[in-house]
Amino acid sequence: MSTTSTLHSSTTDSRARQNILIVGCGIAGPVLATLLLSSPQSVASLPQITILERNTAALGSGQNIDIRGIGKHIINILGLTDEIKKATTGEEGVKIVDANNRIWAQYAADKTGKVETGTSDVEILRGRLAEILLAKAKRVSKDVEARGGPGAKFIFNDSIGHLHQDDDKVHVRLTKAGERTFDLVVGADGLHSKTRQLAWGQAQDGCLKHLEMYGAFFSTKKETADGEWRSWYHSPRGMSVMLRPSGTKDKSTILVLLADKSGAISREMEGSERDVALQKRLVLEKLEGISWLETRLKDAVNAADDFYFDCAAQVELNNWSKGRIVLLGDAGYVNFCSFLSLSLKILAATAPLHSQAWARHLHWQALTISLAL
Ligand SMILES: Cc1cc2nc3c(=O)[nH]c(=O)nc-3n(C[C@H](O)[C@H](O)[C@H](O)COP(=O)(O)OP(=O)(O)OC[C@H]3O[C@@H](n4cnc5c(N)ncnc54)[C@H](O)[C@@H]3O)c2cc1C
Repeated sequence: MSTTSTLHSSTTDSRARQNILIVGCGIAGPVLATLLLSSPQSVASLPQITILERNTAALGSGQNIDIRGIGKHIINILGLTDEIKKATTGEEGVKIVDANNRIWAQYAADKTGKVETGTSDVEILRGRLAEILLAKAKRVSKDVEARGGPGAKFIFNDSIGHLHQDDDKVHVRLTKAGERTFDLVVGADGLHSKTRQLAWGQAQDGCLKHLEMYGAFFSTKKETADGEWRSWYHSPRGMSVMLRPSGTKDKSTILVLLADKSGAISREMEGSERDVALQKRLVLEKLEGISWLETRLKDAVNAADDFYFDCAAQVELNNWSKGRIVLLGDAGYVNFCSFLSLSLKILAATAPLHSQAWARHLHWQALTISLAL
């Protein structure tokens, strides 16, 4: 590849500076950028970071996510505990209801965070969390730039088209912006990671272990009776539905979990995984005759402009890093079904080592963050 990156700023230390591409500006990407730029080393040796996102802006959508355990530790390291706690959904606890909305059991949240129940003391909408994490990364980047450092550059509305690595660099072709060269590439581009596909090639074929479940996340207009508790109905037909508070007066959120032990949903989705019309049709079919809130749920599916649907899956690879490329968050680990909460996906601070050794180091840090999301 002939064209190399021009992203290095001209400091005296620029030869030592790592030039890092983070693919994906979701949850894990901005966390990693913040932690790398918050490293206590001299500003001249902080890495130059580029965050690449395929959407035109970071997606401020997504419903309830709980932060527990190591996830709380990491938001504390990020200095975001207070801000995130102020932005929580305020969920009071979980009520288990039947098809007639009768309550059979209820578990209150422990707002002190000492006792973990179904509702964590830190419940936040994924979109709100993404906004807070991105704003933090931008603040830290600005601060680094003000001190003469390189900060982070954002490229939206572009994607990774091709990559290959040699002993010294990773050469990346962006679909629109063309060729760039980096010391390290971090794939934080979600469960269906393009970075993973390009870097691991055939070795990653079949690495997504489906956990026999799909989830649909979307919101609906809040009704007075919704209150601040989560109502959770387990349907006998391999379906589980939750109606939850969002922390706003206007909307409640809905999660529909669909069991897929037979693989029928997987087969139906194959090749059309991002087809929202197909995803909605599938959920509507499953909701037929559910009884509990049936009409409301169906109307909400039809109206939702924030509908998010995916399989629950775990990535099974022998290694989370390959040379100068490392996977972070859902791209390398497991998504919403982990029940280890968002606590399996945020990244800890790193010391800038060199090249492949650094990538190996990053991979352990990536595991830490991923375990935190
Ligand atoms: C829109 C959206 C809504 C979600 N809603 C929920 C929810 O309600 N509940 C829940 O539990 N989980 C939800 N998730 C998943 C949740 O965000 C992740 O499980 C978790 O937070 C891990 O974050 P991540 O950064 O690893 O991956 P993600 O949050 O999935 O972020 C990956 C990012 O990479 C970007 N990307 C993907 N491919 C490319 C590419 N080729 N080039 C550049 N960028 C790329 C994506 O657009 C996205 O911004 C949602 C994810 C998304 C993207």
